[in-house]
Amino acid sequence: MIKKVTSAKYREYTAIEDLEDSYDVIIVGSGGAGLSAAIEAKDAGATPIVFEMMPRTGGNTKKSSAGMNASETKFQEASGIEDSNNAFFEETLAGGNETNNEELLNYLVDHSADSIDWLDSIGITLDNLTTTGGMKVERTHRPSEGSAVGGYLINGLLDNFKEREIPLFVNSEVTGILEEDGKVTGVEVLINQTDKRTIHSKAVVVTTGGFGANFDMIVEHKPDLEGYVTTNHAGSNGSGISMISTLGGDVVDMSDIQIHPTVEQATGYLITEAVRGEGAIMVSEEGVRFTNEMDKRDIVSADIIALPEQKAYLIFDDGVKERVLAIEHYIRVGLVVSGESIEDLAEVMSLDADSLKGTIETWNKTVSEGEDTAFGRTTGMNEDLSTGSYHAIEIAPGTHHTMGGVRINTLTEVLNTDGNKIDGLYAAGELTGGIHGSNRIGGNAVADIIIFGRQAGKQVVDYLKN
Ligand SMILES: Cc1cc2nc3c(=O)[nH]c(=O)nc-3n(C[C@H](O)[C@H](O)[C@H](O)COP(=O)(O)OP(=O)(O)OC[C@H]3O[C@@H](n4cnc5c(N)ncnc54)[C@H](O)[C@@H]3O)c2cc1C
Repeated sequence: MIKKVTSAKYREYTAIEDLEDSYDVIIVGSGGAGLSAAIEAKDAGATPIVFEMMPRTGGNTKKSSAGMNASETKFQEASGIEDSNNAFFEETLAGGNETNNEELLNYLVDHSADSIDWLDSIGITLDNLTTTGGMKVERTHRPSEGSAVGGYLINGLLDNFKEREIPLFVNSEVTGILEEDGKVTGVEVLINQTDKRTIHSKAVVVTTGGFGANFDMIVEHKPDLEGYVTTNHAGSNGSGISMISTLGGDVVDMSDIQIHPTVEQATGYLITEAVRGEGAIMVSEEGVRFTNEMDKRDIVSADIIALPEQKAYLIFDDGVKERVLAIEHYIRVGLVVSGESIEDLAEVMSLDADSLKGTIETWNKTVSEGEDTAFGRTTGMNEDLSTGSYHAIEIAPGTHHTMGGVRINTLTEVLNTDGNKIDGLYAAGELTGGIHGSNRIGGNAVADIIIFGRQAGKQVVDYLKN
């Protein structure tokens, strides 16, 4: 029986006194990729443990909001949505400006429905559908009542940890991966920032997330992002990429760093794409639309940056507010301004009331006619903006996702610069590169971490058996 200690308000983690000198598999990082890998490894017969550097689990995964993309799912079928793996593949490839690693992308697409089923089978049901920018049908799966995906997903995965008694050590930063004769043999871990220990293992799965919060690394790979705010949590520091590079692991696409168009600048809060997916529009300081709000993130971001003020406003009504539960949170933390009428809202925002009113009236007509002749928007148009009071959030682009990273194959084996695998070393999630190409579609990262996290968990057990 594992002894537990409380080190977070709502969760218990494994006591550090229970840490042993050696394990089958060490998993580094407790985001969606790491937790999925651990559950699959345990279910396949191994005894994995997880090290997490932060005092709490969840990483960026816990912050994720819109949902997880998957095609040909039972939930799409039940909602009468016609989708195909081929359409998912093609739209993701187009979204990534055709620079995606097609082998990885094929694996992702082909295993997406199965991963929605797997999550459902372990108590994580994503049966409510929406869209994000760059897709033609509702493919983004989220919890039943339309709430943000991240907290629900992490809590569900942690419930499964508890059930399986998988050890999870927080405040435990892995600082190096050990290798002998070309084989991984364990890690160096710094506990509570003071106690350095060597823990042996037959294999290591690295799931440390991206480098979106490492400003030096961002500017090194993309100098024009100097000064941008980030949506990422502090643990997205690129440490996994650095440790794997030290072992000779290859990296790809490091300058492919995504900025997200709708970030509240004072807090770095990402305003979920589901707000637009459920009907919000964006206006400039002139109170007019200036882009297809549902276009790809790189295009919408560029259109905001091209405005003289380099910022914009998301505008929505009570209908959108009811359909996107995350908005209640944005209200609670003070990001939303509201008015009983369009004129009231314009006054609070110091925008021209006639202009904003005209824009919303034209938009409502566009929705009823089903054709956006101004900007060619085709999704997020099921409902107009005419329900109850009106709301706005001021936004501008912020650094969001690092598409580049460690080079892996579809077995999640880490490859060196010669294209050969490093024995016993696996990686999954945002620290890997290639899947998304140069622009990630919203909802594809959660798909990536669950699908490849699971694959890493299964593959590492196969490795142990050989
Ligand atoms: C605000 C926000 C909203 C998002 N919304 C969505 C969405 O709706 N849909 C979508 O598809 N994607 C979304 N994304 C992207 C997605 O959440 C991430 O790409 C994904 O969750 C990354 O998962 P991961 O498991 O690879 O890494 P993470 O979830 O970041 O987990 C990595 C963990 O590793 C830990 N770690 C790092 N280094 C070490 C070390 N050396 N030792 C020990 N531990 C370490 C970190 O502290 C962290 O807990 C969003 C991202 C953000 C920031």
